Amino acid sequence: MRKELFKKVRRVVVKIGSSIITDEKYVIDDHFLMGLATQIKGLVSKKGVEIVIVSSGAVAAGMMVLKIKEKPKKLTEKQALAACGQGYLIHKYSEIFLDKGLYVAQILLTSDDISDRKRYLNAKNTFEVLLEKKIIPVVNENDTIATSEIKLGDNDNLSAEVASLIEADLLIILSDVDGFYDKDPTLYKDAKVIDTVDSPEKYLKKATSKSGSKVGTGGILTKLQAARKATLVGIPVVLAKGKKENIIVDIIKGSNVGTLFLPKTEKISHKKYFLAFNIKPKGKVYVDDGAKDAIVKRGKSLLPSGVYKVSGNFKIGDVVEIITKDGIAIARGLTNYSLIEVDKIRGKKSSDIEKILGYRYDDEIIHRNNMVILSDVNRL
Ligand code: ADP
Repeated sequence: MRKELFKKVRRVVVKIGSSIITDEKYVIDDHFLMGLATQIKGLVSKKGVEIVIVSSGAVAAGMMVLKIKEKPKKLTEKQALAACGQGYLIHKYSEIFLDKGLYVAQILLTSDDISDRKRYLNAKNTFEVLLEKKIIPVVNENDTIATSEIKLGDNDNLSAEVASLIEADLLIILSDVDGFYDKDPTLYKDAKVIDTVDSPEKYLKKATSKSGSKVGTGGILTKLQAARKATLVGIPVVLAKGKKENIIVDIIKGSNVGTLFLPKTEKISHKKYFLAFNIKPKGKVYVDDGAKDAIVKRGKSLLPSGVYKVSGNFKIGDVVEIITKDGIAIARGLTNYSLIEVDKIRGKKSSDIEKILGYRYDDEIIHRNNMVILSDVNRL
């Protein structure tokens, strides 16, 4: 099945976990990076595969450079270490990849970069140019300025965001485990690797529930979240052991290694994914029951007549949340009008927009094509 599924794979995101880029003593593992470079060189020059790396390891590299033995607990200390280590890490990538004839480019992202449509498209364009030139982007979260508020959280989730951003055909998450186990392998000796998972949601629920045998905690949770996000937009995900020889080549070939998370057959578009996951809405529009039914049950756009209240501070093109009378968020979308304009035209017919504002961009406040229904995403 994997051979068939991966036949047309051309663009791949490879996430490198901190557990494999360093050895037990927090020293960057040159041998691993050389193996990585050799595999990628073969894939890029012989098979025409495009590769983007999302790499952890900046904090560990910082510890190595500054000869610190224990990982600090304070966030600012970790940020300082990451700032110091990121330079070293990317230097290592450059040096080792160049030895194989490959150039790398550093891309540091925060959630602000992905949640602003313009910056999102800019980032996408940069990736496109680099890939066209066969340069390998090495992505990491911009730890220095990523306060908890704008933090993407972890590189597993970041790798799914990047996979969606560049519309990858496959996301490979490399870690120190053979795959996704049916139980936490650190707690249960009889835990087995699952070959294929068709619903990461099932395990996410288990992993976060307080009762029953734990599927796992920490690192595996974010890998399941990443698998959910990527498979939702139709990107298959393979979780496998990074230090196995030729692992990336084998995965792309369709060999049965690691755990495959199957893409959803009923997927959402990248644009709707962007709306559902990447964005912090700038405001809220409150709708009456008629508008709620039109949106959720009849697949309609949001017209001014159904809006009775607005809040927040949004401009044209910002993402806003659509809230019902019971205070439930039912959808998100890109607004055609600013808060001030919506406040003027709310409750009115679309044919009156021009009379009220003196101009009219569109009949709808949010067009259906620019809207994602949150229950649709949760159902998948
Ligand atoms: P990385 O640094 O590669 O991102 P993490 O250490 O964050 O990796 O996460 C991987 C760890 O998750 C594994 O070493 C493993 O001990 C743990 N783990 C917990 N539950 C599971 C599970 N069900 N399947 C696989 N690994 C699990």
